[in-house]
Amino acid sequence: MTKQEDLQTVASSFQSFLEELHSKYNSLQDGSVANYIPELAKVNPDLFSICIATINGDVYEVGHYKELFTIQSISKVFVYGLALEDHRRDYLLTKVGVEPTGDGFNAIILDEKSKRPYNPMVNAGAIATTSLIKGSDATERLNRMLDMFQRYTAHNVFVDISVFTSERITGHRNRAMAHLMLHFGMIEQNIDEALDLYFQQCSVMVNCHDLAVMAATLANKGINPITGKQAVDSRYVKDILSVMYTCGMYNFAGEWAYKIGIPAKSGICGGIIAVIPGRMGIGVFSPRLDSRGNSVRGVKVCEELSQQFGLHLFDCSGNQLNLDS
Ligand code: GLN
Repeated sequence: MTKQEDLQTVASSFQSFLEELHSKYNSLQDGSVANYIPELAKVNPDLFSICIATINGDVYEVGHYKELFTIQSISKVFVYGLALEDHRRDYLLTKVGVEPTGDGFNAIILDEKSKRPYNPMVNAGAIATTSLIKGSDATERLNRMLDMFQRYTAHNVFVDISVFTSERITGHRNRAMAHLMLHFGMIEQNIDEALDLYFQQCSVMVNCHDLAVMAATLANKGINPITGKQAVDSRYVKDILSVMYTCGMYNFAGEWAYKIGIPAKSGICGGIIAVIPGRMGIGVFSPRLDSRGNSVRGVKVCEELSQQFGLHLFDCSGNQLNLDS
């Protein structure tokens, strides 16, 4: 068999593996969809897709991978990257910590001593991060943020106006966090504008294919494998992946790191991204959530992928999947 034929065989058996994985977990109906705003409660709970993009730009996908949904908390990863580019690591660390919390994503809590939000992957930290995005006015800040997302997805992205409006009207907890941070000087600019930008970033529409390509971009030193263009300065990829690894799965982050061992981020939309540095990005979408706000099927799929293909960062079994060579 030539090397080319060999690769084709690996690719087609990997695609079959994903199809089997999808049908195995399709019957899993535990959990419930987010219902804190009516727009999210309306989602079809049965939607389910798994996508994997390699750093060479090959994409393997199964299920409803074209279905659009709002990115929600997965946005926090990418906005953190933009804030790092805008301010550099040392300054950002004075405003947002990098400690896992053990609390839920929407806890109204700051670090007792430093008054910083614990990390950029929980709501308080994400709001503080978003407030640091540069721009001369709200429109320029929004456009810079959308441009950033477009570098990762390789196409235009839009804010879902009805989700944004609902988030804005009902986001009292997020407002409370912003006021607390304003009180302690952790947010400086107009908090209503910062909150609007945060609600807008949560309401950006993506599909599961996009999630995998965005994750693969982080796996590929910040270079989008589809366009070949830099989406985020490669210097900051390790900062982003570190906070994903320790804080990305909310108060499940420790168990996730232990069992699954991949930098990841979930959102209340039911999406999860997971990054295998130097190799591939994983996107999973299934809206039914567990009590911590993580997709039930998404966690199972990532767990099985990690075990089957030795994807845990500290796996030394030599059992690693190789789709590229
Ligand atoms: N829009 C949601 C919020 O701010 C996002 C939370 C999430 O995805 N966990 O509460």
